[in-house]
Amino acid sequence: AFDVLMIGGGPAGAAAAIYAARKGIRTGVAAERFGGQVLDTMAIENFISVKETEGPQLARQLEEHVRQYDVDIMNMQRASALIPAVEPGGLHEVQFASGASLKARTVIISTGARWRELNVPGENTYRNKGVAYCPHCDGPLFKGKRVAVVGGGNSGVEAAIDLAGLVAHVTVLEFADTLKADEVLQRKLRSLPNVDVICSAQTTEVLGDGQKVNGLQYKDRRTDEMHTVELEGVFVQIGLLPNSEWVKGTVKTTQFGEIEIDNKGQTNIPGVFAAGDVTNIPYKQIVIAMGEGSRSALSAFDYLIRQ
Ligand code: FAD
Repeated sequence: AFDVLMIGGGPAGAAAAIYAARKGIRTGVAAERFGGQVLDTMAIENFISVKETEGPQLARQLEEHVRQYDVDIMNMQRASALIPAVEPGGLHEVQFASGASLKARTVIISTGARWRELNVPGENTYRNKGVAYCPHCDGPLFKGKRVAVVGGGNSGVEAAIDLAGLVAHVTVLEFADTLKADEVLQRKLRSLPNVDVICSAQTTEVLGDGQKVNGLQYKDRRTDEMHTVELEGVFVQIGLLPNSEWVKGTVKTTQFGEIEIDNKGQTNIPGVFAAGDVTNIPYKQIVIAMGEGSRSALSAFDYLIRQ
């Protein structure tokens, strides 16, 4: 059995693995896709101390760093269930879709999250070529350009306010007939001169010239009329879905499915920790996931020495 078993091999899981292995305890990482969301990222300019890097390169470096230590990496393993220890200090079991199962004294859930997608033509074609999901990450790439934010909930309106300070113009498109964001955010949004809000707008296509985005098409749901907005960027802000389905009903989550953790990264189950985008920690970023992963490994070690 492992002393510490990470489920998920993104920045959070990789950081947790390194911190755990450095304690000389038996450490394993099982991941569906080692590297996580970083693999889908192009330019990364906010990984502190590295001015610029690319996702696949950072993912490679994460794996190299983990492999410096005595860590069992089990890639392409999708966890399907967690069976918590019967008594405190006992062994937890993780079952995998492959039929395999692993046992560990502590488990760190670091299965990350995924952005909800529009599922319209052009979205995939122009991903990272104008279609973006993270304003903190990609906002500065659109300096002085025109963008749309799809989604008028809190994250969409926050993104629009943030982007309005960087880009030339922001169009917010909301599917429903009113914005869903908190009133205070809506008031702030309405005070900005370079923002337009369009409600009852169903985004139907991301348009481009073959290389990059040059427009967005939407349907006015009240009249069924089609419209086109000329722009250079589309930020999709219709939700971030935590990959916590496999522990649903076992580990306590928020109404959004984010795993609830305390300030040591512990879940409601003793010996089961969680870190990174899958948790209810605000702001989903690489450096934050790494910090959270490191903390959860130190907490797991602390738990183990007290057993
Ligand atoms: P993830 O990176 O999501 O990793 C989750 C891991 O768990 C993966 O290995 C996955 O395969 C695995 N997994 C999931 N489900 C299971 C399961 N059931 N069983 C086993 N394994 C499972 N952040 C920045 O700081 N700067 C940026 O520039 C930036 N740009 C981004 C661009 C894009 C396009 C995207 C999508 C994200 C970007 N982010 C950026 C956000 C950043 O990538 C995430 O905050 C970070 O990767 C979260 O790390 P994590 O380890 O918590 O989760």
